[in-house]
Amino acid sequence: MTQHFLLSKAARTLTLAKVFRMSEDQAYETFREMRWEGGEPVCPHCGGTHVYEYRARRIFKCKACGRQFSVTSGTLFHSRKLQMRDYLAAVAIFCNGVKGTSALQLSRDLDVQYKTAFVLAHKLREVMAVEQQDRRLSGEVEIDGAYFGGYVKPSNIREERLDRRRSLNKAGTRQVVVAARERGGKLLTNVYPKESGGNNFIASRLDKGTVIYTDEAYSWRPLHKQFKGYRINHTERYVDGHITTNRVESFFSRLRRAEMGQHHSIAGPYLDNYADEMAWREDNRRLSNGEQFQRLIEYAASLGRSNQWAGYWQRQAKVENNFV
Ligand SMILES: [Zn+2]
Repeated sequence: MTQHFLLSKAARTLTLAKVFRMSEDQAYETFREMRWEGGEPVCPHCGGTHVYEYRARRIFKCKACGRQFSVTSGTLFHSRKLQMRDYLAAVAIFCNGVKGTSALQLSRDLDVQYKTAFVLAHKLREVMAVEQQDRRLSGEVEIDGAYFGGYVKPSNIREERLDRRRSLNKAGTRQVVVAARERGGKLLTNVYPKESGGNNFIASRLDKGTVIYTDEAYSWRPLHKQFKGYRINHTERYVDGHITTNRVESFFSRLRRAEMGQHHSIAGPYLDNYADEMAWREDNRRLSNGEQFQRLIEYAASLGRSNQWAGYWQRQAKVENNFV
């Protein structure tokens, strides 16, 4: 029997133990080498490569523009508060969480405040979203949508139970994740109030001549007008020769498992971030976690500071104070 990939040696090149065996100096050097080729600093302000180094304070000063910077300046870990080793550990823990990693787990594993872990996890999701940014799909592409959120608790009394299948009886917080998956290729995800909302987005990302596969939902009609495609009638069967959407649906089951097993609820304003995260895990599932780790760190180093998450709790505190 062939061994499951996740149990093979290649999948275990990076262990959390390795990170925790590093001294803070080693962690710093590791990050420095991942950020800059050969660890040679480049000024994030002007791109200058002639730099003074103040070793004791781990500060650099650019000879060209005279400004100071650190190894994390202008990266996702900008204005960092944790030790370098904690960041590496966070990325390792996050990579290892095949079904997602909750902020609560991260806060316990790293022994940091929940708020710190919450922002850190969301920053890593932001990194994961980068791969989808300019992605185009072609060949054969399966498309589907799945609803999240808007759970209506059934009444304990039978006569008072609503038919929860009727949209009239569903809560307004429901949103749909629309996903397109190239056969043998990668995923694209986005979030909309209704399934049909994703048509323009998907159409804009498919190459000419793409063949699409969907279920029989009315939502996909505009796409079928633009692209050659097939529909599978799910009330009858899930596979009809080559006509199936099982590949895109396996992504949704991964997203559901992350919701149930890790987060309990991924609905609301961050649904898009969770979808990006799980798409990244699905797309990169064949990389060893050493490679996944390397990839995330490199993106984190090159992405620049987070617009969405830098200073998140400080802004939240301001909003709350305004209501006091
Ligand atoms: Zn400079």
